[in-house]
Amino acid sequence: SHAQIGLIGLGTMGGMLALNIAEKGFDIAVFNRTTKVTRSFHETAGALAPKITPCESLEALVQAIAKPRAIILMVPAGEPVDEQIAALRPYLDADDLIIDAGNANFHDTERRAAEAEKQGPRFLGSGVSGGEEGARHGPAIMGGGARSDWDRVAPILNAIAAQFEGTPCAGFMGKGGSGHFVKAVHNGIEYADMQMIAETYGVMRDGMKLGATECGEIFAKWDEGVLKSYLIEISGKVARTADPETGAPMLDIILDRAGQKGTGRWTAIEAQHLAAPIPVIEAAVMARNLSSRLEARAEGEDLFGTGPEALPDGALSAEDLEHAMIAGKILCYAQGFELLRAANAPFDWALPLPEIALVWRDGCIIRSAMLDDMASALSDAPDRNLMFAPFFADLLKAHHGALRKVVSTAVAHGLAVPALSMALSYFDTMRTARGTANMIQGQRDFFGAHGFERTDREGKDFHGPWAM
Ligand code: NDP
Repeated sequence: SHAQIGLIGLGTMGGMLALNIAEKGFDIAVFNRTTKVTRSFHETAGALAPKITPCESLEALVQAIAKPRAIILMVPAGEPVDEQIAALRPYLDADDLIIDAGNANFHDTERRAAEAEKQGPRFLGSGVSGGEEGARHGPAIMGGGARSDWDRVAPILNAIAAQFEGTPCAGFMGKGGSGHFVKAVHNGIEYADMQMIAETYGVMRDGMKLGATECGEIFAKWDEGVLKSYLIEISGKVARTADPETGAPMLDIILDRAGQKGTGRWTAIEAQHLAAPIPVIEAAVMARNLSSRLEARAEGEDLFGTGPEALPDGALSAEDLEHAMIAGKILCYAQGFELLRAANAPFDWALPLPEIALVWRDGCIIRSAMLDDMASALSDAPDRNLMFAPFFADLLKAHHGALRKVVSTAVAHGLAVPALSMALSYFDTMRTARGTANMIQGQRDFFGAHGFERTDREGKDFHGPWAM
């Protein structure tokens, strides 16, 4: 038993993580439910094969790992994780450690952490982001559980994580499900950023009548500026790729129905529980759901008109869209960080917001140049909404006009921009000192005698002289 760590689940992510771990010099033992996957994994590991011990039973896996053991689970979230923990438990000692590195719902992680406290073994819930490529060469890792357990495996996790200017993109988020919660919020932001990019693409395609390749060139140009990020970069690449079979742009052939595994939805649901406003993320989840209503959308186009209209010449420029996207992106990330902050009191966490921005700077899907500035802004004032941080407030002052121009132009011509619209509504609400909830309070008092506060007097329980 010499392996420094074990890993179960040699699928897309697990296989790549195992190679990454071996490449960083650690001996690793691996197990997969389907044995032939384990064998072919080892056979194709090339120069890394000597660092990898393939195991054909859980018992063999456990025996191959040095004590106290650490075992990473990389299996689908949900039941398979509980099954694996139950199957491992008889072979493990109380101080052995199971690390669930899949996309668990953080409520499940909270439950598993509590169960582990009672009956062992030790348990860490770690969010891992970066897809296949990240897993292989450096993901972002968000750990949750006991600090001492994190510290035990941190040398391995830090080594395999992405490195931003020498700093590992791996961090300890706090107890219980905090790591998986941070990962869920990461994914919510990912949904929102992807949706806003898709909306700007839609304005270019349907409004400005640009071809996929031209859209791709515009995204590539954005990737040299404030918007520099992995998602903008790959959007440019996706848009400029041709289908090898037909020669047509790949984008023109891909069906417009978005898949999802549910992490964005969990984020939106949790935000509602916490009364944390994340309208851009919610709009993105809504848009993915609506995208699957293909038949209804076709029926709607027949019934109500021919879909989006072309914009008049010069109505919008690529620069307007870029600036709108900058404003939208700041507002969406600001909402994501507000959600993280809102979770602290109810879950008794102290999520390290500046460190989260640091961890997200590289390796993960939402890595972007802006996150470095967000980390600085959050270190200066951890409790301040990012939209009020001077650096981002200046960008918003410069670009909210473009966001308004893009949203209003799109709306006027029937182009759906739900996430950008929500970003703008959030912005406008957040800069309106006297809002309209006085009307809500009037209504509530009228029909339910719920009482209201007054602007001109202290006290809570005032009522109106409503004529019933
Ligand atoms: P894959 O489907 O590629 O691999 C799943 C792995 O889990 C396989 O090794 C499979 O074994 C094993 N498995 C499936 N069901 C069970 C079970 N009931 N008991 C034991 N083993 C089982 O999934 P991914 O690698 O994509 O995802 C793994 C986890 O990582 C998920 O939680 C996912 O959400 C998360 N994740 C995925 C990312 C991605 O980009 N793909 C990014 C970040 C996180 P077998 O060969 O026997 O089928």
